[in-house]
Amino acid sequence: MRIQDRDNINVYPISAGLNTSSISVRPKPLNVIRFVLDIHLGKLATSLRLLGFDTLYRNDDYGDEQLAAISSSQKRILLTRDQGLLMRSLVTHGYYVRNTQPQQQILAVMRRFDLFTVVSPFQRCLRCNGLLTSVDKESVIDQLPANIELQIHEFHRCQDCAQIYWKGSHYTRLQNFIDEIMGRE
Ligand SMILES: [Zn+2]
Repeated sequence: MRIQDRDNINVYPISAGLNTSSISVRPKPLNVIRFVLDIHLGKLATSLRLLGFDTLYRNDDYGDEQLAAISSSQKRILLTRDQGLLMRSLVTHGYYVRNTQPQQQILAVMRRFDLFTVVSPFQRCLRCNGLLTSVDKESVIDQLPANIELQIHEFHRCQDCAQIYWKGSHYTRLQNFIDEIMGRE
């Protein structure tokens, strides 16, 4: 397995409450809902991260074998556009994403796994899935664009890739997207 700089593989410990012996071919509910996605589902990955779900995705793709291995070893639900991938014996928790339209995809996953009551938006990095932490404006001021609005004082930084987030013009668009999704329960 090729480990690269921004890989998040094994960064998150398996939840103490998760008894691996209970994972069988007949899926039982996972204690912690976490996902790994195939290369075709980049927008869905971003949406899941936006809503706070631990979501592994790489746009250079993991490859089928690695997707199955990650799903199995990290107890992640494998979301895929490839039904063949779900036939692999390693994969005990997976879901075939039938729809190609991103908004329909996120709705289908939300409904299938009953996620509407467990969303926690704006907690994760959309780029790398890392958790965000609150930071002082002073500590990030050098990295902000010159035209940032002066009245913005709330900033978050990704603990993994250091990407900085604030409620800029894109924030309203993201919030509207979340409202739209949550209104479709
Ligand atoms: Zn990040």
